[in-house]
Amino acid sequence: MAEQTSSDVDVEVLVIGAGVVGIYALQRALEAGFSAQTLEAGEGVGGVWYWNRYPSARFDSESYTYGYIHSKGLFDKWRWEEEFATQPEIERYLNFVVDHFDLRRHIRTGQKVVSAVWNEADTAWTVTTEKGETIRARWVVSATGGLSVPNYPDLDGLEDFKGQAYHTGAWPHTPVDFTGKRVAIIGNGPSGAQILPAIVDLVDAVDLYQRTPTWTTPLNNAPITDERHAWLLDNFEEIAGKLGSAANPTGFLHEPAGKFSTADSFDERQAFYEKVWNSPGFGKLTTNYYDMTTNREVNLEFCEFLANKVRSIVNDPITAERLIPKDHLFGAKRPPFVSNYYESFNNPRASLIALRETPIVRVDATGIETSEGHREYDIIVFATGFDFGTGALTRMGIKGLEGLDLGTDWEDGPTDFGGFSAHQLPNFFFPGGPHGAGGGNYPRYSQDQIDWITGTLIYAREHGYERFEPTAEQQEAWMTMIETLAPKSIFSAEHSHYYGANVEGKVRKFLLNPGGRAKLHEMLGEMTATGNYGGALSSVRESVSAV
Ligand code: NAP
Repeated sequence: MAEQTSSDVDVEVLVIGAGVVGIYALQRALEAGFSAQTLEAGEGVGGVWYWNRYPSARFDSESYTYGYIHSKGLFDKWRWEEEFATQPEIERYLNFVVDHFDLRRHIRTGQKVVSAVWNEADTAWTVTTEKGETIRARWVVSATGGLSVPNYPDLDGLEDFKGQAYHTGAWPHTPVDFTGKRVAIIGNGPSGAQILPAIVDLVDAVDLYQRTPTWTTPLNNAPITDERHAWLLDNFEEIAGKLGSAANPTGFLHEPAGKFSTADSFDERQAFYEKVWNSPGFGKLTTNYYDMTTNREVNLEFCEFLANKVRSIVNDPITAERLIPKDHLFGAKRPPFVSNYYESFNNPRASLIALRETPIVRVDATGIETSEGHREYDIIVFATGFDFGTGALTRMGIKGLEGLDLGTDWEDGPTDFGGFSAHQLPNFFFPGGPHGAGGGNYPRYSQDQIDWITGTLIYAREHGYERFEPTAEQQEAWMTMIETLAPKSIFSAEHSHYYGANVEGKVRKFLLNPGGRAKLHEMLGEMTATGNYGGALSSVRESVSAV
């Protein structure tokens, strides 16, 4: 299809961000014949997989289920090394994808967007970067990620520390040498849990500062053998079909258990839990009993099984007890899947600092003081997570209709439609944003969103529409769904980044899509049921006369 050009804008589709979602958005827009360009803040592509380069950063979704599944040509040309790839391999893959689809010439790196202003009269966005460049675009796809703004703890004296300090989500590009160093890791989510086993044998000493224990279970990684690779290639259609299906809420290939806990005796359940413990990655959730997350009794029984695993692995019984969660059931918080995490605490170099018993008093030039005493460090690692969901969008200077300023309008929590668009933000899409992902494999949710957005742009072009804005009613229906189903979500623990609880002063609102893919597709289907998407699509002439 010929490239569509438009004289009053610089580019039809402007994508912000060259991570997993942005790369796909750009490719689909170009493939559909739009003129398109990407602005990326980093000096390279990859998004979270560009910034999170800490030791042993890796997928905990199977590599081939996280990667792109829309092109057999692409799938056939890449060979994953491991079931769960590490960051360097993932970054190489994303660069390979960019070159495979000849996208690099459309991507401008080192261009952080600081302002995006809607001009109703021109039906266009004016987007400005930190370097002062300005681009006018008909459509904006802001693929700026839910985990792109690092969250630092609010600690007295943080700026006084004279050693090296790094956040996992803004890791330096030059290697950090941990050999013989005294290291503090603050945070034990998936990032903190991954980094501990990766460095424990190198350091002089490493202290893990834990506020809330997690139900961490082993990743159970494996290399991808020739046979496995051949199987993946031979079964692409089936794999892509299964992962891409709206009827697959998790976006994984895992086979569900097919039974409720009541089908088994106590001994059978214990044997089943052992099988689940040995399953790969998210299998602990997706292949568990159907009622694992809805039946409190069975969940408590599984928690006791996990607690006994911790007790059997960790030699020091006091450390073991401190590592066992007491405030949430399995799955209520997004669990880390990391091998050798508990085993690391048997290494005499590693200690656990339980912050609920001995909180941090202050950081100073040489280390960290807790209520128990002072410890000196060469390196502090902040594995303290991100301003999840809204962080990037509320910092980008986005100004829509009637004075809508996302930086202030979302202070009470995001309001949106489909987790990728909002009333009073015409022609602006933010796939992978708040209310975007359900409880499963992120890229599968984002692919659903991008496919729909691209389809909508093509439809608009074919039918003479230049403007998309969900109506107030469509947005309200979506938000009612979010608020009604949020308490029923699997990730129901309110003390979590999915509620914004990890960021000081952030309002506590549920930030995932608790209706999952099924609700997303149902509500998108309702929207597309009429020719003008229930009033969301309009032509420039109509919208101007309506102002
Ligand atoms: P996280 O899950 O939000 O964990 C942050 C950790 O820092 C928590 O242990 C938190 O404690 C602690 N923390 C935050 N503020 C603190 C403070 N002021 N004092 C002490 N401790 C503090 O962050 P993350 O580990 O970076 O993971 C974020 C998300 O990234 C994950 O949910 C996942 O989606 C993704 N991720 C994926 C992988 C992978 O395997 N593919 C790896 C890493 C990350 P509390 O629990 O008490 O708040």
